[in-house]
Amino acid sequence: MCWSLFERICNWGPLSVLAIIKIITLMSLHCSRHWWNNYRNITSDTCFIIFIILSGLTLYHFINSVYEGPGYLPINWMPDDENDCEFLQFCSVCQGYKAPRSHHCRKCNRCVLKMDHHCPWINTCVGHNNHGYFTAFLASAVTGCCLSTYIMINWMTIIFFTRPLPFHPPSIFTVMLVLISIGLSVGVVIAVGMLLYFQLHAVIKNQTGIECWILEKANYRRITSSEQFVHPYSKGWLFNVNQVLSWHCAAIGNGIVWPVIDGCDQYTLTREQLAQKQEKRKRSKRYRIVARATGSWVPVSHGLHVLCSPPITDEPRIKLDVGDTIMVTRWRNNWLFGEKENHMASMDIKDRVRGWFPRPCAIPVSEKDKELQNYVDVDGDERHYSSNATTSLTSVEGEMNYNYRMQIIPSEESDLHF
Ligand SMILES: [Zn+2]
Ligand SMILES: [Zn+2]
Repeated sequence: MCWSLFERICNWGPLSVLAIIKIITLMSLHCSRHWWNNYRNITSDTCFIIFIILSGLTLYHFINSVYEGPGYLPINWMPDDENDCEFLQFCSVCQGYKAPRSHHCRKCNRCVLKMDHHCPWINTCVGHNNHGYFTAFLASAVTGCCLSTYIMINWMTIIFFTRPLPFHPPSIFTVMLVLISIGLSVGVVIAVGMLLYFQLHAVIKNQTGIECWILEKANYRRITSSEQFVHPYSKGWLFNVNQVLSWHCAAIGNGIVWPVIDGCDQYTLTREQLAQKQEKRKRSKRYRIVARATGSWVPVSHGLHVLCSPPITDEPRIKLDVGDTIMVTRWRNNWLFGEKENHMASMDIKDRVRGWFPRPCAIPVSEKDKELQNYVDVDGDERHYSSNATTSLTSVEGEMNYNYRMQIIPSEESDLHF
């Protein structure tokens, strides 16, 4: 276990976090020592002790988030009752069924219990086992950085505005380090504070990041009916918070069987997921590649429209050659997301070519969309339509409206990273 902790920590994400914790802690201690040695009172002592506690808690919860990991579903897992398999998705990598709330993470290469997202900063997923530790880590980091910013700004104020200085003048190097630490501290408060907000929202609602997407799609599917999809795991905010946050932060339950509200069962959400998958399959469209896609994140050759409107996600950009066919499942104005068709039969998820590519590289080839092939220019940054393509234009507008709708329905892909 110690070796696996060491392996997880020896990565740019956790090492960066440890470096940031260390520099902010050391510089805050340095500043407070200078400042409070000269202006010591009850407030300064209290601030100092609280800062030390918060810094220790940040480190403790961070190490536990990494050490505990999210919890993985056993390989070849299947429910006790074989009849329940029909309500679950099968994972071809782990060769087992995905338990309710579990999703396969491509980075961890395992099915993760109650997967929230894959976090590069802890180099593993946030899931059932480490959700409490991760949320406590964010909370202690944000409050600790608020306090350290206050300490360091006060020190800087004394350096610049108090004469004579009540302590030995610091070197330029020290002043630079404190300035950098203030920048890091403010950055942590803003960036990690936003993440903390989303995590607290997830804890209070008992919805993981992936489940938020599934619920959004579930309600979208019912937009024309009076029926509303009910999240089966939300049993009131206090119950939800107690499921994740406690003094010890350890996970409650086995991560497979979950308490559900009346009227729902263990498979209410998985049945909805299966229905959404089926709809997605029906919705997908075959496209043919007519201009090479290089897989670049900044594809300058396809024009400014493509360059300036990249999908805001770290999902892969894929290489495609002229003549390839691809099943597209998501649309943006200038980008498409799909899976290269000749690899779809492969059972190994790692061999599948799936990701984003510039929209001008492809044209739709299904019967319904053949009209759209009246496009004249598919290589440039603008599309032109032939003058007699009135019906095509209507189709394009229809497709654009459809695509706009699709944009508000995120994918259920289980590889969120933030
Ligand atoms: Zn899996
Ligand atoms: Zn992961």
